[in-house]
This record gives sequence, C-alpha cells and structure tokens, in this order.
Amino acid sequence: MMTNEELWKAVLNEMELSLSRANFTTWFKGTSLLSNSSGSVLVSVPNGFVKEWLENKFGKQICQIIRKVDPEIREVKYTVGGIRSGQPLQKKDLAQFTPEKITKDYQDTDIDKSTNLNKRYSFDSFVVGSNNELAHAASLSITKNLGKVYNPLFLYGGVGLGKTHLLQATGNSVSKTWPDKKVSYISSERLTADIVESLKNKTIEEMKQRYSKLDLLIVDDIQFIAGKERTQDIFFTTFNELYSRNKQIVLSSDRPPSAIPALEERLRSRFEGGMIADIGIPDYETRLAILNLKCKEKDFEVDSNSLSYIASNIQKNIRELEGALNRIIAFGQIYNKTPDFKEVKKLLAAYLNTPYRKTTHQLILRSVSDFYGVPISDLLKRSRKKEIVKPRQVAMFLLREETKSSFPEIGSKLGGRDHSTVIHAYEKIKKEEEENESTKQELLLIKERIYQTFDS
Ligand code: ADP
Ligand code: MG
Repeated sequence: MMTNEELWKAVLNEMELSLSRANFTTWFKGTSLLSNSSGSVLVSVPNGFVKEWLENKFGKQICQIIRKVDPEIREVKYTVGGIRSGQPLQKKDLAQFTPEKITKDYQDTDIDKSTNLNKRYSFDSFVVGSNNELAHAASLSITKNLGKVYNPLFLYGGVGLGKTHLLQATGNSVSKTWPDKKVSYISSERLTADIVESLKNKTIEEMKQRYSKLDLLIVDDIQFIAGKERTQDIFFTTFNELYSRNKQIVLSSDRPPSAIPALEERLRSRFEGGMIADIGIPDYETRLAILNLKCKEKDFEVDSNSLSYIASNIQKNIRELEGALNRIIAFGQIYNKTPDFKEVKKLLAAYLNTPYRKTTHQLILRSVSDFYGVPISDLLKRSRKKEIVKPRQVAMFLLREETKSSFPEIGSKLGGRDHSTVIHAYEKIKKEEEENESTKQELLLIKERIYQTFDS
C-alpha cells in the first residue's frame, strides 16, 4: 500500500509532464493528499480558485492517474486549506481560516443517492436574464405540468452557462412538490457507462425496467451519446417507453439536435419533437446580478466597484465568473478582510490571463515573433519563406499546447491554413521538442516570455 505522499507524488509527476512549468506551479503548488479511505481521496488545495480548476479542468486526468496507481479509488475530492493528516496543527493553519468565514461549500454528500440531484441547484439561486429566459420559463412550466407541456424539453448552450443548474433545479423542484414522483438525473456519460456495464452483466432488462418507472428522466450533456450506437439504441427504447406514457424527459446539450454528429435520425427527430430552448451568453446586468447573488449565498461582501470589474471582464462563462469571485473570497478568508479594488485587480489578472483564454493567442504570437525576430504579420501570412516556416510551426504548436485551441481554429488564425497543416506542424515540433535539445530550449524560453507577461 502506498502512503498518501507517494500516491500524490505519482500524480504530481505525471501532471508535471503534461503541463508547462508555469502552469504546473500555478495549479499544483501547495497541494497535498490528506486522506485515502474507502475509495475516496481528499486533496488539500490552497484556495477556492485552485480547487475550481483542479475539479473542472484537471479532475478527470487526476482521477485517471490515481486509478492507475490504485484502482480501488473511486473519487477524488478537493478541500480548501485542509490540514495535512499526521502533522500537528499549526497555529497559522488555524489563524488562516476562521470557521464563520469559510465559504459554504457544497460537498458531494449533498447529492441525493436515489435521484443524483444536488440541493445547491434551485430556481431561487438561478438568475434569469434575456440569455436564459426561455429555457428558464420552459423548465419552470415543466415542474407545474409534468409530462404535459413540452416533451421532451431540450436545452442547449455553451459550457458554463447554466444548463446543469437548470436541469437540477427542475429535478429538485419536482421532487419537492411531489415527493412520490420518481426523478432521476444522469449525465449521458454515466448513462453510457451504466449501459455498457449492464450489457456486460446481462442486467440490461433490469436497467430498462428501472428507467421505465420514472416520472422525470433528466439526461445532461446528451451530445456525448453521439456515435455510441448501442447506447442510442437502448436510450431510444427507454425514451419511447416514457414518452408514450406521458412521462417527462428533459435533455441538455452543448448544441442543438441538428448539430450533433453521428446521432441517429430517429433520435434526432424525437429530440426535435418537443421544445428546444437555448441558453446564451449573459449580458452585463445579468452577470452582475449573478455575482451579487453568489456573494449573498456565500455570505461575503465585495464592494460594487470590484463586482463590476469582474462582470465586465469575464463574459462568456458563468463558471469562470464564479471562479473569479471565489478567488476573491478565498483571499478574504486567508487575510481576513475584504480585498480593495486594487487587490481585486491584481487577483484577477492571473484569472483573466489563464492560459485557456483566447486573448492569449495574441500574447503567444507576440512572444514567438519577439523571440525569432519575425513580424507577427509574417506569421499570419501564407508565405513559405524558410526563416518563417519554423516560427510559424512553433506558434501553431504553442497555440495548441497552451490554449488548447482546436486545430481548425489555429489554422484559420494563421493565414487560413487547413487543419491538417496545423496537425503536421504540431507533431513536427512536438517530436523536435523531445529529440532536439535546441528546440527544447527555444520552447522553454518562449514559454518563459509568455508567462512573464502574465505575471507582470
Ligand atoms: P453548464 O452545465 O451549462 O456547463 P452549469 O449549470 O454547471 O453550466 O453552470 C456553471 C456555474 O454557473 C454553476 O455554478 C451555476 O450555479 C452557475 N450559473 C449558471 N447560470 C446561472 C444563473 N443564471 N444564475 C446563477 N448561477 C448560474
Ligand atoms: Mg453541465
């Protein structure tokens, strides 16, 4: 059996390989593994900001690594400022966190085992704006007329815009109004995994039976069943079974049914047969209202200047908006005071410049251009001049590595090139990074530039 330290070291080692140095330090400095018991691992992180990122951006990867080492482990949880087990409590550990100031953090234990619903999501905690008005109204109306108005209800919209929140709020509200209605929330990934498992164990009939007894079936991120024929097949049967008896089905996806590739026609037409509502990007007022509500929920005061600053700078993702606020709250908890505007700006600089943000495209291009002494405009042109080919390939490589942009997106940015050109460039530089010491050094130096600009 490995000690906690050894186990976490294994994770760190592997994560270090897959991230840039600056990135690795940002997300993993000051983390440790607190406990490991009955399949659940608890990791201590320095603040809410890191917690959010480890959960959302690296959660899957960390889980995979840990399970490679110890397949018994089923879940990894994160907690802010936990105290390393086996070590005496330090005075400073306690001073950092006064209990009444610790953010109300909803744990996985708040999830109801029979419905998979988390109480934290409710209609009360959902801010309605023009971006989500229709989706909200349709969800609400379902809770009053289960199976009778829109069936199925299909919500779609980009990442972090509130789909899961609305689905869960719908489930919670129905459970509360009618405690004997059978409600189930499931992600389509879980659904697929369950189906595979049931097929293997020959319990698929039981599974279908279980689903057919539901009054409300909620499937989140249904786009992931694309291309999975067996799952689609079984889901189709279940769908029809429920639908024919006026049982409610609610689905979410990152795009409309017509845009989900490899979705069987019969399912697509079922999805389109009810009500489709989209969730868009919230406007400034809505973003501000969300921030105000979250402050209230967390019982933490942030001055209005700071809130407008966050609301005007983070626009496209409510999860990020919340993450930025959490960062400010974490600061408040650590220093036991509300940060002033200047401190807020500083705290958010790192957030706004996270490597995943599109604005860093420009920064990467500038760093590459500075480093090789070629103008950015040349990187963007189609020219095949020899002295530009390599810098451009490096730019493509870094855009991919540091921003996770898609190959076609990078291609269209750099002179309208085909995605296969970008893949070729990416693979070439990746290979060189491994085999050629000078390319490796060049990349390190360019990355240093990129991150220096972040820090200043
Ligand atoms: P999605 O499922 O679309 O990726 P989520 O539902 O997980 O997004 O939302 C991300 C975060 O933003 C959640 O913490 C959620 O509570 C919050 N959120 C999203 N929309 C709203 C809203 N309109 N009002 C309050 N909180 C919201
Ligand atoms: Mg979601």
